Amino acid sequence: MTTAPIVRTVEELRRHVRAWKAAGEMVGVVPTMGALHEGHLSLARRARKECERVITTIFVNPKQFNNPDDLKKYPRTEEADAALLATVPVDLIFAPQPEEVYPDGFITTVSVGGVSEPLEGRMRPGHFDGVATVVTKLFGMTMADRGYFGQKDWQQLQVVLRLVRDLNIPVHIVGCETIRETDGLAMSSRNVRLTPEGRAKAHVLYEAIMAAATDIRAGQSDRMAIREAAEAIRAAGFDRVEYIELRDAETLMPSDDPARARRMLAAAWLDGVRLIDNIPV
Ligand code: AMP
Repeated sequence: MTTAPIVRTVEELRRHVRAWKAAGEMVGVVPTMGALHEGHLSLARRARKECERVITTIFVNPKQFNNPDDLKKYPRTEEADAALLATVPVDLIFAPQPEEVYPDGFITTVSVGGVSEPLEGRMRPGHFDGVATVVTKLFGMTMADRGYFGQKDWQQLQVVLRLVRDLNIPVHIVGCETIRETDGLAMSSRNVRLTPEGRAKAHVLYEAIMAAATDIRAGQSDRMAIREAAEAIRAAGFDRVEYIELRDAETLMPSDDPARARRMLAAAWLDGVRLIDNIPV
């Protein structure tokens, strides 16, 4: 299997994309931070089905890390990533160095209000500014027609949808389902940092929010169901439950409007690793 060319500069990236666009081809982009797994590949496969050309970007974006230790420990596995992408296959891998994305003098921040503020936004100050800035840049750099994002990062997906709407960015955003391990744990590049003992307990996060959602649909109060879920997660041996919240699926604000879709979102620490998950309710 031949691996896609790995391109490091915007200039070279644009050379490829211009030729594709001149031929009338539709370009899809799958932004990632690498350390790829089935979750990422499912996005790339969806893009492969819907677009003539597929770009996967691999960039560990320093601006979206609020914790320097997390940035330092973030897994980097470019060769393995390229081999996995060859199975899709994709047409091009854009893997720039930080200086290519943020050259000297870089001073612009894209900041989405409202939807960026609660939950992940509150727990990880600056995180969504980093995401919105890099996603805007990646759309500008790749000139993609379609952008593929995972529901695993539900709030991020809503931030990106708001961003393209508010700034008239001509990219159609496709939200793709969360891919899970067989025990239910949402796939994540950070899962490799779990100890074997932690990995064996990690599925409880998903199970607990699923049970809470079932109880709420059956008429139990939101508060009681969420409290029981938090207790189950702590009892399984997680270090800390950061939040479990039932929110409006689009605005991420508190909501008890039955006419609008709601989403349960959770973040919890296990083995010093921060795990997040979310499900419809
Ligand atoms: P990341 O490399 O973690 O920044 O993720 C890159 C993209 O892959 C984001 O749009 C994520 O939401 C998506 N993604 C990560 N994990 C999963 C998963 N388990 N299922 C579906 N999409 C995912």
